Amino acid sequence: MRPIIVVLLVLTLVVAYLSTLGEKSGGSQRVPETPVTPEEKLIARASQKPGDPELGAAYKDINARHFGGRLPEIPVLWEPGLDGLGEPASKGFRMDGLWGHYGSRTLILLNPRLQGDREALRRVLCHEMVHQHLHAVGDSKTKHGQAFQKTLRRLSDEGAFTGIAAVEGEKKALQSWLDAKESQLSRIESLLAAQRVGVEVAEAGMADLNARIEAANAQGHGWPSAPEMRAVESTRNERVAAYNSLMRGYNADIDVFNDEARRYNLMTAYPDGLDEEALVQPRVAAVPPSAGEGR
Ligand SMILES: [Zn+2]
Repeated sequence: MRPIIVVLLVLTLVVAYLSTLGEKSGGSQRVPETPVTPEEKLIARASQKPGDPELGAAYKDINARHFGGRLPEIPVLWEPGLDGLGEPASKGFRMDGLWGHYGSRTLILLNPRLQGDREALRRVLCHEMVHQHLHAVGDSKTKHGQAFQKTLRRLSDEGAFTGIAAVEGEKKALQSWLDAKESQLSRIESLLAAQRVGVEVAEAGMADLNARIEAANAQGHGWPSAPEMRAVESTRNERVAAYNSLMRGYNADIDVFNDEARRYNLMTAYPDGLDEEALVQPRVAAVPPSAGEGR
């Protein structure tokens, strides 16, 4: 028999500031005989190793509870090599899981980075097990299509994992909210940028005042008047306070936005499969105007 490798993946969007924004499920490929791509090579190599007992127990548990114990027992392994897999990483995505078979061996690989996150681990394992289920019933065409989504949704409904199997209306509503919030945040960003310039002008005024005071100290005359000094200082303080207040509100909004974006991305990836274009990018918090001197 000609060895066939089938590879299906789950990816996680990794963002510098927010550890995990949302999981993604990747495409699938079928290739002949010799492993060519890094995914295929990984599967081929891992197919020679034994499964992890703990992961095997988790697989068995899900199989018993949600598949009537009908799935064949296959090895589930931690595979650090998922981290280094090409294109997803360069786009800021991390590969979390891989289901595939090589010859007669079928297996699931999981990224060890999931070890600290039980919910994500469960979610990814369920995702891969749906691929196993489709494979077991002889469906080699579905990938992340309807049959896949239907089964993953059933698992979610049954509480197999903490997922977001959203109804279409809910997802659309959230998407409009995110769009509206995004324009609002952009407007506040412009306002923040303008206020920041105002703060910098006021800081320059303070620096100028200090230079005049120093010069007057040296010469023994020519000090700025007390009202002028008070005015310059209070202008600076008012502008800094206004900026900081706007910034705090903005950053609080960003947190809410990013939480909702994460929820939306989960809805998109679970159970809708890979839809990279549809994922919402997180936003970055604003910073105080003067961390030290100057710009
Ligand atoms: Zn998948």
